[in-house]
Amino acid sequence: MSALLPTSIVGSLPKPAWLAEPEKLWSPWKLQGTELTEGTRDALRLAADDQRRAGIDIVSDGEQTRQHFVTTFIEHLGGVDFERRETVRIRDRYDASVPTVVGAVTRERSVFVDDAKVLRAQTDQPIKWALPGPMTMIDTLSDQHYGSREKLAWEFATLLNQEARELEAAGVDIIQFDEPAFNVFFDDVREWGVAALERAVEGLRCETAVHICYGYGIKANTDWKATLGSEWRQYEESFPLLQRSAIDIVSLERHGSRVPVELIGLLRGKKVMVGAVDVASDAIETPDEVAATLRGVLPFVDADKLLPSTNCGMAPLARHVARDKMVALAAGAGIVREELSGTSPLRGDGTGAVL
Ligand SMILES: [Zn+2]
Repeated sequence: MSALLPTSIVGSLPKPAWLAEPEKLWSPWKLQGTELTEGTRDALRLAADDQRRAGIDIVSDGEQTRQHFVTTFIEHLGGVDFERRETVRIRDRYDASVPTVVGAVTRERSVFVDDAKVLRAQTDQPIKWALPGPMTMIDTLSDQHYGSREKLAWEFATLLNQEARELEAAGVDIIQFDEPAFNVFFDDVREWGVAALERAVEGLRCETAVHICYGYGIKANTDWKATLGSEWRQYEESFPLLQRSAIDIVSLERHGSRVPVELIGLLRGKKVMVGAVDVASDAIETPDEVAATLRGVLPFVDADKLLPSTNCGMAPLARHVARDKMVALAAGAGIVREELSGTSPLRGDGTGAVL
């Protein structure tokens, strides 16, 4: 584990072709029942191994046991009817058929704790586990029971807190909440979004993170980004609130995006997980490109609070592309780490990676 600039991925990795159709988001499973459980755990082990070989410091599960980063969690809750589906507009961007909340939401048992224990057994390195954030959860549902986005978010935050406490007890070092909705619903973020997130992390002793991004590299997202103009200032709304919040780490998109770098300064004092790898392109970054992105943020985040990462999940990419991007991330972070520690910089050619 690198003490300075520890690297991690945001969350998802592509799944093996025997588990789900590759290069497709939310691809249906190819296995069922106990074979599916075994298959997803095998894939989780492979994902951990790929990260280790690439030189990633903080290891994730690659979201190999979930079909979708939000709905897989919701599937395990009571009060949600998956047969009763309605089409809603997700993040004001694209239509999706989603399940309906028909009663009080409940969590009878843990959703990911057994998977987290499998990941914990794979490595002595720190591990990170991602959960959906409350606001992003309610944006992926049709509510016919609470009649209030805020009220439902609060209920979800309570259930997420129960899950997070069990993940912490299973040995997870960082629990991350994915809140891409924070880049869209600014009034809600201000009025109750950050408070709901703080409810979700209440009482946790492990580190906590929130990931806010411009989404996977799918067409609906790239079309949306094309409408945002030459400067993407959405983070300006949430960062000052998060800077004052109980969340320890903010994960953001930077490499190849139009986010003005100085906005990262709004988080001063927090740890920042900076996206130094673009997930919307198959082009593999060079270690020097990764290093340049990391150097570029150093005026706005203290070096001991900088965590190099990817812009978002890599689920829709080809496996070899995701692997090569992880190698580039680790090598690029290595270049800047050596510059900061004052030793002679090595060439950033990925030396040391063993893929
Ligand atoms: Zn993301």
